[in-house]
Amino acid sequence: MTTATSKGPGICRFCRTPLRHTFVDLGMSPLCESFLRADQLNEMEPFYPLHVYVCEQCFLVQLEEYVSPEHIFTEYAYFSSYSESWLEHARKYTEQMVGRFGLHGGSLVAELASNDGYLLQNFVKRQIPVLGIEPAANVARVAIEKQIPTIVRFFGMQLAAELAREGRSADLLIGNNVLAQVPDLCDFVAGVKILLKPQGVFTLEFPHLLQLMEGNQFDTIYHEHFSYFSLLACEKIFGAHGLVLFDVEELATHGGSLRIFGRHAQDSSRPVSSRITELRAKEDVYGLSGLDCYRSFGKKVKQTKRELLQCLIRAKEAGKTIVGYGAPGKGNTLLNYCGIGPDFLDYTVDRNPYKHGRFTPGTHIPIFPPDKIRETRPDYVLILPWNLRSEIIEQTSFIREWGGQFIIPIPEATVSS
Ligand SMILES: [Zn+2]
Repeated sequence: MTTATSKGPGICRFCRTPLRHTFVDLGMSPLCESFLRADQLNEMEPFYPLHVYVCEQCFLVQLEEYVSPEHIFTEYAYFSSYSESWLEHARKYTEQMVGRFGLHGGSLVAELASNDGYLLQNFVKRQIPVLGIEPAANVARVAIEKQIPTIVRFFGMQLAAELAREGRSADLLIGNNVLAQVPDLCDFVAGVKILLKPQGVFTLEFPHLLQLMEGNQFDTIYHEHFSYFSLLACEKIFGAHGLVLFDVEELATHGGSLRIFGRHAQDSSRPVSSRITELRAKEDVYGLSGLDCYRSFGKKVKQTKRELLQCLIRAKEAGKTIVGYGAPGKGNTLLNYCGIGPDFLDYTVDRNPYKHGRFTPGTHIPIFPPDKIRETRPDYVLILPWNLRSEIIEQTSFIREWGGQFIIPIPEATVSS
Protein backbone atom coordinates (compact mmCIF):
# COMPACT_ATOMS: atom_id res chain seq x y z
CA MET A 1 0.00 0.00 0.00
CA THR A 2 1.17 3.51 -0.78
CA THR A 3 2.16 5.70 2.14
CA ALA A 4 2.37 9.46 2.14
CA THR A 5 5.43 10.24 4.23
CA SER A 6 5.50 13.99 3.70
CA LYS A 7 4.44 16.56 6.28
CA GLY A 8 4.89 20.01 4.75
CA PRO A 9 7.36 21.98 2.66
CA GLY A 10 10.37 20.09 4.03
CA ILE A 11 14.10 20.46 4.24
CA CYS A 12 16.89 19.65 1.79
CA ARG A 13 17.61 15.94 1.48
CA PHE A 14 21.34 16.68 1.63
CA CYS A 15 22.14 19.83 3.63
CA ARG A 16 18.91 20.15 5.70
CA THR A 17 18.24 23.77 4.64
CA PRO A 18 14.49 24.57 4.54
CA LEU A 19 13.21 24.35 0.96
CA ARG A 20 11.73 27.68 -0.11
CA HIS A 21 12.23 27.93 -3.85
CA THR A 22 10.13 26.21 -6.46
CA PHE A 23 11.91 24.67 -9.44
CA VAL A 24 8.69 23.58 -11.11
CA ASP A 25 5.20 22.78 -9.85
CA LEU A 26 3.56 20.13 -12.04
CA GLY A 27 0.39 19.97 -9.94
CA MET A 28 -1.12 16.77 -8.61
CA SER A 29 -0.37 13.48 -10.33
CA PRO A 30 -0.91 9.76 -9.75
CA LEU A 31 2.12 7.44 -9.62
CA CYS A 32 3.27 7.21 -13.22
CA GLU A 33 3.43 3.41 -13.38
CA SER A 34 -0.03 2.73 -11.92
CA PHE A 35 -1.83 1.77 -15.14
CA LEU A 36 -5.48 0.90 -14.54
CA ARG A 37 -7.59 -2.09 -15.54
CA ALA A 38 -11.08 -1.41 -16.90
CA ASP A 39 -12.67 -2.50 -13.61
CA GLN A 40 -10.65 0.14 -11.71
CA LEU A 41 -11.79 3.13 -13.78
CA ASN A 42 -14.55 4.15 -11.38
CA GLU A 43 -12.40 3.79 -8.28
CA MET A 44 -10.67 6.60 -6.44
CA GLU A 45 -7.05 7.15 -7.52
CA PRO A 46 -4.41 8.61 -5.19
CA PHE A 47 -2.82 11.80 -6.52
CA TYR A 48 0.34 13.30 -5.00
CA PRO A 49 1.97 16.69 -5.56
CA LEU A 50 4.69 16.87 -8.21
CA HIS A 51 6.19 20.01 -6.74
CA VAL A 52 9.94 20.20 -7.23
CA TYR A 53 12.12 22.50 -5.14
CA VAL A 54 15.70 23.70 -5.43
CA CYS A 55 17.85 24.10 -2.32
CA GLU A 56 19.29 27.61 -2.06
CA GLN A 57 22.43 26.30 -0.31
CA CYS A 58 23.55 23.25 -2.28
CA PHE A 59 21.35 23.60 -5.43
CA LEU A 60 20.08 20.07 -5.17
CA VAL A 61 16.82 19.90 -7.15
CA GLN A 62 14.43 17.62 -5.31
CA LEU A 63 10.97 16.28 -4.81
CA GLU A 64 9.67 15.40 -1.42
CA GLU A 65 9.30 11.74 -0.63
CA TYR A 66 5.54 11.32 -1.00
CA VAL A 67 5.72 7.62 -1.61
CA SER A 68 7.78 5.13 0.33
CA PRO A 69 10.64 3.44 -1.55
CA GLU A 70 9.43 0.08 -0.21
CA HIS A 71 6.24 0.62 -2.15
CA ILE A 72 8.08 1.47 -5.35
CA PHE A 73 10.91 -1.02 -5.29
CA THR A 74 9.99 -4.24 -3.54
CA GLU A 75 8.24 -5.62 -6.63
CA TYR A 76 9.86 -3.73 -9.47
CA ALA A 77 8.45 -4.27 -12.95
CA TYR A 78 11.48 -3.19 -14.93
CA PHE A 79 13.90 -5.87 -16.06
CA SER A 80 17.01 -4.28 -17.51
CA SER A 81 17.68 -7.29 -19.73
CA TYR A 82 14.58 -6.49 -21.82
CA SER A 83 16.35 -3.54 -23.42
CA GLU A 84 18.85 -4.46 -26.12
CA SER A 85 20.48 -1.03 -26.21
CA TRP A 86 20.92 -1.05 -22.42
CA LEU A 87 22.61 -4.46 -22.58
CA GLU A 88 25.03 -3.11 -25.16
CA HIS A 89 25.69 -0.09 -22.93
CA ALA A 90 26.56 -2.51 -20.09
CA ARG A 91 28.90 -4.59 -22.29
CA LYS A 92 30.85 -1.52 -23.39
CA TYR A 93 31.03 -0.21 -19.84
CA THR A 94 32.53 -3.49 -18.57
CA GLU A 95 35.19 -3.52 -21.25
CA GLN A 96 36.13 0.07 -20.52
CA MET A 97 36.34 -0.40 -16.72
CA VAL A 98 38.31 -3.66 -16.83
CA GLY A 99 40.85 -2.01 -19.13
CA ARG A 100 41.09 1.30 -17.34
CA PHE A 101 41.25 0.04 -13.77
CA GLY A 102 43.01 -3.30 -14.37
CA LEU A 103 40.34 -5.45 -12.69
CA HIS A 104 41.22 -9.15 -12.30
CA GLY A 105 40.29 -12.40 -10.54
CA GLY A 106 41.31 -10.95 -7.18
CA SER A 107 39.11 -7.83 -7.48
CA LEU A 108 35.55 -7.34 -6.31
CA VAL A 109 32.96 -5.50 -8.39
CA ALA A 110 29.80 -4.52 -6.47
CA GLU A 111 26.69 -3.00 -8.01
CA LEU A 112 23.95 -1.09 -6.18
CA ALA A 113 20.51 -1.69 -7.68
CA SER A 114 21.97 -4.55 -9.70
CA ASN A 115 18.54 -5.39 -11.16
CA ASP A 116 18.51 -8.78 -12.95
CA GLY A 117 22.30 -8.98 -13.24
CA TYR A 118 22.32 -7.46 -16.75
CA LEU A 119 25.63 -5.71 -16.01
CA LEU A 120 27.44 -7.94 -13.52
CA GLN A 121 27.13 -10.95 -15.83
CA ASN A 122 29.76 -9.30 -18.05
CA PHE A 123 32.27 -9.29 -15.18
CA VAL A 124 31.36 -12.90 -14.28
CA LYS A 125 32.24 -13.92 -17.85
CA ARG A 126 35.73 -12.49 -17.25
CA GLN A 127 36.11 -14.41 -13.95
CA ILE A 128 35.98 -11.22 -11.91
CA PRO A 129 34.13 -11.74 -8.58
CA VAL A 130 30.91 -9.71 -8.25
CA LEU A 131 28.29 -8.82 -5.67
CA GLY A 132 24.84 -7.45 -6.53
CA ILE A 133 22.66 -5.49 -4.12
CA GLU A 134 19.05 -5.24 -5.20
CA PRO A 135 15.99 -4.49 -3.04
CA ALA A 136 13.38 -5.74 -5.53
CA ALA A 137 13.04 -9.46 -4.74
CA ASN A 138 11.52 -10.47 -8.08
CA VAL A 139 14.33 -9.06 -10.22
CA ALA A 140 17.03 -10.16 -7.74
CA ARG A 141 15.71 -13.74 -8.07
CA VAL A 142 16.45 -13.67 -11.81
CA ALA A 143 20.04 -12.59 -11.08
CA ILE A 144 20.51 -15.34 -8.49
CA GLU A 145 19.25 -17.92 -10.99
CA LYS A 146 21.98 -16.68 -13.36
CA GLN A 147 24.58 -17.45 -10.60
CA ILE A 148 25.15 -13.80 -9.79
CA PRO A 149 25.55 -13.42 -6.00
CA THR A 150 22.88 -10.90 -4.98
CA ILE A 151 21.79 -9.51 -1.62
CA VAL A 152 18.11 -8.54 -1.47
CA ARG A 153 18.29 -5.37 0.63
CA PHE A 154 18.31 -1.58 0.45
CA PHE A 155 21.83 -0.16 0.41
CA GLY A 156 23.09 2.24 3.08
CA MET A 157 25.65 2.61 5.86
CA GLN A 158 24.47 -0.43 7.79
CA LEU A 159 24.76 -2.91 4.94
CA ALA A 160 28.05 -1.34 3.80
CA ALA A 161 29.53 -1.73 7.29
CA GLU A 162 28.43 -5.38 7.49
CA LEU A 163 30.02 -6.16 4.13
CA ALA A 164 33.23 -4.28 4.94
CA ARG A 165 33.53 -6.27 8.19
CA GLU A 166 33.21 -9.49 6.20
CA GLY A 167 36.07 -8.32 3.96
CA ARG A 168 33.80 -7.71 1.00
CA SER A 169 34.92 -4.14 0.15
CA ALA A 170 34.79 -3.11 -3.48
CA ASP A 171 37.48 -2.27 -6.00
CA LEU A 172 34.76 -1.02 -8.32
CA LEU A 173 31.39 0.09 -6.96
CA ILE A 174 28.70 0.75 -9.56
CA GLY A 175 25.34 2.52 -9.32
CA ASN A 176 23.40 3.12 -12.53
CA ASN A 177 20.16 5.08 -12.36
CA VAL A 178 19.80 4.56 -8.63
CA LEU A 179 20.94 7.88 -7.14
CA ALA A 180 17.76 9.74 -8.11
CA GLN A 181 15.67 7.12 -6.32
CA VAL A 182 17.52 7.21 -3.00
CA PRO A 183 15.41 8.81 -0.26
CA ASP A 184 18.20 9.08 2.33
CA LEU A 185 20.99 10.44 0.18
CA CYS A 186 23.51 10.95 3.02
CA ASP A 187 23.10 7.38 4.29
CA PHE A 188 23.62 6.08 0.76
CA VAL A 189 26.74 8.16 0.03
CA ALA A 190 28.18 7.34 3.47
CA GLY A 191 27.65 3.68 2.54
CA VAL A 192 29.65 4.17 -0.67
CA LYS A 193 32.50 5.63 1.41
CA ILE A 194 32.45 2.61 3.76
CA LEU A 195 32.25 -0.08 1.08
CA LEU A 196 34.99 1.32 -1.15
CA LYS A 197 38.54 -0.09 -0.80
CA PRO A 198 41.25 2.53 -0.11
CA GLN A 199 42.21 2.55 -3.82
CA GLY A 200 38.73 1.69 -5.03
CA VAL A 201 36.69 3.56 -7.65
CA PHE A 202 32.96 4.16 -7.86
CA THR A 203 30.98 5.10 -10.95
CA LEU A 204 27.42 6.38 -10.94
CA GLU A 205 25.15 7.22 -13.85
CA PHE A 206 22.12 9.47 -13.63
CA PRO A 207 20.18 11.88 -15.86
CA HIS A 208 21.94 15.25 -15.96
CA LEU A 209 19.96 18.19 -14.63
CA LEU A 210 21.58 20.49 -17.18
CA GLN A 211 20.11 18.35 -19.99
CA LEU A 212 16.71 18.29 -18.29
CA MET A 213 16.74 22.09 -18.16
CA GLU A 214 18.26 22.74 -21.59
CA GLY A 215 15.98 20.22 -23.26
CA ASN A 216 12.90 21.29 -21.26
CA GLN A 217 12.47 17.63 -20.24
CA PHE A 218 10.04 18.34 -17.40
CA ASP A 219 8.21 15.09 -18.14
CA THR A 220 11.20 13.12 -16.81
CA ILE A 221 10.11 14.31 -13.35
CA TYR A 222 8.04 11.77 -11.44
CA HIS A 223 7.40 10.63 -7.91
CA GLU A 224 9.87 7.75 -8.06
CA HIS A 225 12.73 10.19 -8.76
CA PHE A 226 13.41 12.14 -5.59
CA SER A 227 16.53 14.07 -6.73
CA TYR A 228 17.81 15.67 -9.97
CA PHE A 229 21.57 16.19 -10.07
CA SER A 230 24.03 18.62 -11.53
CA LEU A 231 27.77 17.95 -11.28
CA LEU A 232 27.88 20.95 -8.96
CA ALA A 233 25.47 19.42 -6.42
CA CYS A 234 27.15 16.01 -6.71
CA GLU A 235 30.59 17.39 -5.93
CA LYS A 236 29.19 18.98 -2.75
CA ILE A 237 27.39 15.82 -1.64
CA PHE A 238 30.30 13.43 -2.24
CA GLY A 239 32.83 15.98 -0.98
CA ALA A 240 30.99 16.18 2.35
CA HIS A 241 31.57 12.42 2.73
CA GLY A 242 35.30 12.45 2.01
CA LEU A 243 34.94 11.42 -1.63
CA VAL A 244 36.29 13.21 -4.70
CA LEU A 245 34.95 13.08 -8.25
CA PHE A 246 37.97 12.68 -10.52
CA ASP A 247 36.36 12.14 -13.91
CA VAL A 248 33.06 12.52 -15.72
CA GLU A 249 31.57 11.43 -19.04
CA GLU A 250 28.50 12.84 -20.75
CA LEU A 251 26.29 10.04 -22.12
CA ALA A 252 23.31 10.08 -24.47
CA THR A 253 21.20 7.72 -22.32
CA HIS A 254 17.87 8.86 -20.81
CA GLY A 255 17.84 12.20 -22.64
CA GLY A 256 21.41 12.99 -21.48
CA SER A 257 23.17 11.45 -18.49
CA LEU A 258 26.40 11.83 -16.55
CA ARG A 259 28.74 9.04 -15.54
CA ILE A 260 30.80 10.26 -12.60
CA PHE A 261 33.98 8.57 -11.37
CA GLY A 262 34.85 8.94 -7.68
CA ARG A 263 37.49 7.87 -5.16
CA HIS A 264 38.51 8.51 -1.56
CA ALA A 265 39.78 12.08 -0.99
CA GLN A 266 43.07 10.65 0.40
CA ASP A 267 43.79 8.57 -2.71
CA SER A 268 46.02 10.88 -4.74
CA SER A 269 46.87 8.17 -7.29
CA ARG A 270 44.05 9.38 -9.57
CA PRO A 271 44.32 13.08 -10.46
CA VAL A 272 41.17 15.08 -11.23
CA SER A 273 40.62 15.17 -14.99
CA SER A 274 40.12 18.36 -16.98
CA ARG A 275 36.71 16.99 -17.97
CA ILE A 276 35.56 17.78 -14.42
CA THR A 277 36.73 21.38 -14.56
CA GLU A 278 35.27 21.83 -18.05
CA LEU A 279 31.85 20.52 -17.10
CA ARG A 280 31.88 22.54 -13.88
CA ALA A 281 32.54 25.65 -15.99
CA LYS A 282 29.76 24.71 -18.44
CA GLU A 283 27.23 24.41 -15.60
CA ASP A 284 28.42 27.68 -14.17
CA VAL A 285 27.99 29.49 -17.49
CA TYR A 286 24.46 28.07 -17.77
CA GLY A 287 23.71 29.56 -14.35
CA LEU A 288 23.45 26.46 -12.17
CA SER A 289 25.38 28.12 -9.35
CA GLY A 290 22.70 30.81 -8.89
CA LEU A 291 18.99 30.61 -7.98
CA ASP A 292 17.57 32.65 -10.90
CA CYS A 293 18.27 30.00 -13.50
CA TYR A 294 16.31 27.37 -11.54
CA ARG A 295 13.45 29.70 -10.75
CA SER A 296 12.89 30.60 -14.40
CA PHE A 297 12.47 26.95 -15.44
CA GLY A 298 8.81 26.76 -14.36
CA LYS A 299 7.88 29.61 -16.69
CA LYS A 300 9.26 27.75 -19.69
CA VAL A 301 7.33 24.62 -18.68
CA LYS A 302 4.01 26.51 -18.47
CA GLN A 303 4.63 27.96 -21.91
CA THR A 304 5.32 24.49 -23.32
CA LYS A 305 2.00 23.31 -21.89
CA ARG A 306 0.09 26.16 -23.55
CA GLU A 307 1.80 25.58 -26.90
CA LEU A 308 1.12 21.85 -26.87
CA LEU A 309 -2.53 22.41 -25.95
CA GLN A 310 -2.87 25.04 -28.69
CA CYS A 311 -1.51 22.56 -31.21
CA LEU A 312 -3.96 19.85 -30.07
CA ILE A 313 -6.93 22.24 -29.90
CA ARG A 314 -6.26 23.50 -33.44
CA ALA A 315 -6.20 19.93 -34.70
CA LYS A 316 -9.43 18.99 -32.92
CA GLU A 317 -11.22 22.12 -34.13
CA ALA A 318 -10.25 21.24 -37.67
CA GLY A 319 -12.00 17.92 -37.12
CA LYS A 320 -8.78 15.86 -37.04
CA THR A 321 -8.16 12.70 -35.03
CA ILE A 322 -5.20 12.39 -32.66
CA VAL A 323 -3.79 9.29 -30.97
CA GLY A 324 -0.73 8.70 -28.81
CA TYR A 325 2.32 6.49 -29.35
CA GLY A 326 3.77 4.90 -26.24
CA ALA A 327 2.65 4.72 -22.62
CA PRO A 328 5.93 5.37 -20.79
CA GLY A 329 6.05 6.63 -17.21
CA LYS A 330 7.14 10.05 -18.39
CA GLY A 331 4.16 10.21 -20.76
CA ASN A 332 1.93 10.24 -17.71
CA THR A 333 3.61 13.29 -16.19
CA LEU A 334 3.08 15.10 -19.48
CA LEU A 335 -0.55 13.97 -19.94
CA ASN A 336 -1.56 14.76 -16.35
CA TYR A 337 0.19 18.10 -16.17
CA CYS A 338 -1.23 19.27 -19.51
CA GLY A 339 -4.67 17.79 -18.85
CA ILE A 340 -4.66 15.66 -22.00
CA GLY A 341 -7.21 12.85 -21.75
CA PRO A 342 -9.47 10.94 -24.15
CA ASP A 343 -10.97 14.32 -25.13
CA PHE A 344 -7.79 14.85 -27.16
CA LEU A 345 -6.29 11.39 -27.67
CA ASP A 346 -8.62 8.61 -28.82
CA TYR A 347 -6.13 6.08 -27.50
CA THR A 348 -2.42 5.39 -27.20
CA VAL A 349 -0.43 2.32 -28.23
CA ASP A 350 2.48 0.50 -26.61
CA ARG A 351 4.62 -2.52 -27.45
CA ASN A 352 4.50 -3.83 -23.87
CA PRO A 353 1.69 -6.46 -23.70
CA TYR A 354 1.26 -5.81 -19.94
CA LYS A 355 -0.23 -2.42 -20.78
CA HIS A 356 -2.72 -3.59 -23.45
CA GLY A 357 -6.33 -3.26 -22.29
CA ARG A 358 -5.22 -0.95 -19.49
CA PHE A 359 -5.65 2.81 -19.13
CA THR A 360 -3.19 5.61 -18.38
CA PRO A 361 -3.23 6.68 -14.70
CA GLY A 362 -5.20 9.84 -14.01
CA THR A 363 -6.08 10.57 -17.64
CA HIS A 364 -7.73 7.19 -18.48
CA ILE A 365 -6.61 6.93 -22.10
CA PRO A 366 -7.02 3.33 -23.36
CA ILE A 367 -3.84 1.50 -24.42
CA PHE A 368 -3.76 -0.81 -27.47
CA PRO A 369 -1.10 -2.74 -29.43
CA PRO A 370 0.64 -0.62 -32.14
CA ASP A 371 -1.42 -2.23 -34.97
CA LYS A 372 -4.40 -0.13 -33.92
CA ILE A 373 -2.85 2.87 -35.71
CA ARG A 374 -2.98 1.11 -39.09
CA GLU A 375 -6.61 0.12 -38.48
CA THR A 376 -7.90 3.56 -37.48
CA ARG A 377 -5.73 5.84 -39.70
CA PRO A 378 -5.45 8.87 -37.36
CA ASP A 379 -4.45 12.32 -38.66
CA TYR A 380 -1.91 12.90 -35.89
CA VAL A 381 0.25 10.66 -33.70
CA LEU A 382 1.58 12.31 -30.51
CA ILE A 383 4.91 10.67 -29.60
CA LEU A 384 5.15 10.35 -25.80
CA PRO A 385 8.62 8.70 -25.48
CA TRP A 386 10.18 11.58 -27.45
CA ASN A 387 13.69 10.26 -26.73
CA LEU A 388 12.87 7.35 -29.10
CA ARG A 389 11.26 9.57 -31.74
CA SER A 390 13.51 8.64 -34.69
CA GLU A 391 12.93 4.93 -34.06
CA ILE A 392 9.14 5.43 -33.68
CA ILE A 393 8.80 7.69 -36.73
CA GLU A 394 10.68 5.10 -38.79
CA GLN A 395 8.51 2.20 -37.55
CA THR A 396 5.29 4.16 -37.98
CA SER A 397 6.15 5.94 -41.23
CA PHE A 398 3.17 4.18 -42.90
CA ILE A 399 0.87 6.92 -41.53
CA ARG A 400 2.16 9.03 -44.43
CA GLU A 401 0.07 6.81 -46.75
CA TRP A 402 -3.01 8.67 -45.54
CA GLY A 403 -1.30 12.02 -44.85
CA GLY A 404 -0.81 11.36 -41.14
CA GLN A 405 1.66 13.50 -39.19
CA PHE A 406 3.63 13.22 -35.95
CA ILE A 407 3.49 15.64 -33.02
CA ILE A 408 6.60 15.76 -30.83
CA PRO A 409 5.79 17.49 -27.51
CA ILE A 410 9.30 18.17 -26.11
CA PRO A 411 11.25 20.53 -26.06
CA GLU A 412 8.32 22.33 -27.69
CA ALA A 413 5.35 21.06 -29.68
CA THR A 414 6.39 20.42 -33.27
CA VAL A 415 4.53 18.74 -36.11
CA SER A 416 6.54 16.60 -38.50
CA SER A 417 5.49 14.41 -41.39
ZN1 LIG B 1 20.70 21.60 0.24
